[in-house]
Order: sequence, then C-alpha cells, then structure tokens
Amino acid sequence: MADDIDFLIIGGGAAGIGAARRLAALGASPLDVEALDRIGGRAHTIEARGQRLDLGCEWLHSGDRNVWTGIAEDLGFRVDRRDPVWGEQFRDLGFPAADQAAAGRAFDAWAERLIRSPPASDRSSDALEPNGEWNGFIAAMTGFISGAAPERLSAEDYVAYERAATEANWRLPAGYGTLVAASLPASVAVRTDTRVEAIDLAARGVVVVTSRGTLRARAVIVAVPTSVLADGAIRLPPEVDPWRVAAAALPLGRDEKVFLEIIGDAPFEDETYVLGNPRTARTGGHYIRPLGAPVIECFLGGGAADVLDDGPDAGFAFAVDEIVALFGSDARRSLRPLAVSNWSQIATIGGAYSYALPGHAGARALLAKPFDDCLFFAGEATHPFDFTTAHGAHDSGVRAADEAFASASR
Ligand SMILES: Cc1cc2nc3c(=O)[nH]c(=O)nc-3n(C[C@H](O)[C@H](O)[C@H](O)COP(=O)(O)OP(=O)(O)OC[C@H]3O[C@@H](n4cnc5c(N)ncnc54)[C@H](O)[C@@H]3O)c2cc1C
Repeated sequence: MADDIDFLIIGGGAAGIGAARRLAALGASPLDVEALDRIGGRAHTIEARGQRLDLGCEWLHSGDRNVWTGIAEDLGFRVDRRDPVWGEQFRDLGFPAADQAAAGRAFDAWAERLIRSPPASDRSSDALEPNGEWNGFIAAMTGFISGAAPERLSAEDYVAYERAATEANWRLPAGYGTLVAASLPASVAVRTDTRVEAIDLAARGVVVVTSRGTLRARAVIVAVPTSVLADGAIRLPPEVDPWRVAAAALPLGRDEKVFLEIIGDAPFEDETYVLGNPRTARTGGHYIRPLGAPVIECFLGGGAADVLDDGPDAGFAFAVDEIVALFGSDARRSLRPLAVSNWSQIATIGGAYSYALPGHAGARALLAKPFDDCLFFAGEATHPFDFTTAHGAHDSGVRAADEAFASASR
C-alpha cells in the first residue's frame, strides 16, 4: 500500500539535505529517499589508510558567503581558512615563471573577452585566440572548473559563476562529505538503497514508484543530478518533458580525483602544487600534502579524466608519471596508490557537475521552475550562479523547500 507523505525528497545529496533541513525548520516531517547506501551524493568523505579524503566536494568555495561555513561552525567542525596554492607551480618545475605569467595573461584575456565581447555563438571556445599558444592551458582550466572543454561551454553560463564567486576558498579538515551528512537533522526520515523509478501525477499529489514500493506525496522535491533526469532513469509524466529537455542542456562535466600516498623520504613539501603539463588539456593538477597530509591529490578534469576509462590503475599510473616527469624518477619510490573516485561510473550520479551547452544558459531557470504546485526541482544545476557547488546545491534545496511549503499551505 502507498504511504501518504506531505513532502517527499528524491535524492540525499547537498540539495536534498538542504531541502530537508529547511522543511524540518518549518516544522514539517519530510521523507528523503536516496538510491545509494549512503547520503551525501557528490559530497563524500572516505578514510583510506588513516587519511580523510573528499572524493567529491572539498573546497568551501566563496567560503565567506557559503552557507556550509556557518553550518560547519554551528556543528563544531573546524574551518581551515588558508588560501589554496593551486596556480603556484612549486619551484616553477616544468613551467618557467615567464610562461606561468604568459599563460595567466592568456587565460585572463580569454575570460575578459567572454564578459566584454561574448561570442555571438555563446560558445566559449569562440573567444579563444585562433591557434593561441596557451589554448591547451585554458582548456585544462575549464576542465578543472567546468569538467568540459571550452567548445562545450556556454559563455554566458561560465561568466555567471565567475562573476558571483568570491576569492575565499576554505577547507574542512574533517571532510566536506562528513559535514554534509552530519547536517541532516535527526528528525528527518531517510530511506537509503531506495531508487525512484517513476513519478506519476495523481488527482491530488504525486505517486512515486521506488525500488522498494510505491509512495504517495502531496509535494515532491526532485533533487537528483541532471544526468538522471535527462537519460530517463526516472520515468517522468509527459507534461514534465520540458524539465527533462532543460536537464539535457545541462550535462555533467567530468572530473575525478586520484589520491597517492606519500611514503618514506620524499621531495614533497606541505601545501604545494604542480600542474602536470601546462601546454595540454590532458593533464592533472596535483595538490601536494594538502593540510600537511602525506598525500598527493591529483585532479583530472574534462578529457584528462578519460584516463580512468582504463580503470583506476591507469589513473594512478598517469598521475605518478606526471609527478615523476617533474620531480625526477626517485619520486616514484615515494608514491603508492591510495584511492580514486569514479563519479561518472555511478549510475545515479553520472559525472561531476553541470555546465550549460552553448545557447542554453537559460536552462537553469527552466529546470528550477516548479511543475503544477506538486513537483519542485533542486540540485546544483538549478542554481542561477552557484551551480557546480555544494553550497549552490544546498541553497537550491532551500528554495525548493520554500516553494513546496508555500504551495502546501495554500
Ligand atoms: C570531483 C568533484 C569535486 C568537486 N569539488 C567541489 C568543491 O571543491 N566545492 C564544491 O562546492 N563543490 C564541488 N563539487 C561539486 C559538488 O560536490 C556538487 O555540486 C554537489 O555536491 C551536488 O549536490 P546535489 O545534491 O545537487 O547532487 P548530488 O550530490 O549528486 O545528490 C543527488 C543524489 O540523488 C541520488 N539519486 C539519483 N537518482 C536517484 C533515484 N532515481 N532515486 C533516488 N535517489 C537518486 C544520487 O544517488 C545522489 O545521492 C565537486 C564534485 C566532484 C564530482
């Protein structure tokens, strides 16, 4: 028999949790259903050989206005406000200072063109200098920032994020994933291992078919990644097709992390950074001993993450080879595989974070609209400018919760 629920939230990531926190604060008792065996979604901290590692979100971007900063401090989590060192090539290894300055200028000039003279095509690559010396570098950066090549990115969308972000990028030594999971109020009911298969409209409310039975709710907050909506993994009523189309215009980029453990004598200093190869998009950003941990965190963005198609060992080998090319062959002895993410392989996630295809910056607003006072949409992709982030996801959940609560009170 179908359960009768006032507010059902689909997805237990930062957006679903943001919605649950808001509804609980408003005195409601939502149910959150999550396909995985854990909550947090793309916020996931693991422990590997004694090291806490964030496989997904890690940085409190725009930390000075990021809702998670306050939640962390309320819950007793320490916030580390040190500036990141990405962009500072350790000892200029493989990237002479003059080249770093030239690459930085080329990137800034490209970003400036996106704002001042945006391409009519809205395609970010159309603002690149033809055959520009640093186009590979710029593509590596968009791989890290958006998970995709400039050819795939809407200029308008890219700029919306950049305009709104602040310079504060902070960290949580206990892990961003730990915080997001811990922030769910104990009063909120959660069913993990419960995958939603279909959403049907009923005379009053919504019927949700899950892998563990059918639920009936007055209002449903859909807080799943755009990949899930776009590929039909949840069967939606035909009337909701415009939301599926909007989600398809906001695909998830690809970003993965490869973690190496540092053992024994090693030439690696705390809180340092190297870009593997500054002249190609197919490279990693290697954060060395983050917060002093004996770890190198290799960030593979866009096409560079494709190395993982051949499995985790290919990712470890790629990361180690890039580091050895800069630090010398002795460095190899000090490195051993620790952990690797596989976001694009998780069926209910399917990638890293959303970007808008050229001409589709407006898809975020379309996806964020409620349907018929019974379906409400949240998730990082629905935020007008803090998309791609855990705080944008949270705030989108709050927005959807307020909409659902207001409609239920009418
Ligand atoms: C490698 C990487 C690094 C990142 N770094 C940062 C960073 O430093 N800072 C930052 O702010 N952000 C970062 N992000 C982005 C951030 O993690 C996400 O934007 C945010 O966590 C997304 O939250 P969400 O709730 O929108 O989606 P998700 O976290 O994906 O949650 C959606 C949930 O819905 C569930 N679901 C899907 N389908 C179903 C179904 N049919 N039934 C039930 N449940 C379903 C999924 O399993 C998932 O748990 C990073 C992401 C990645 C992958």
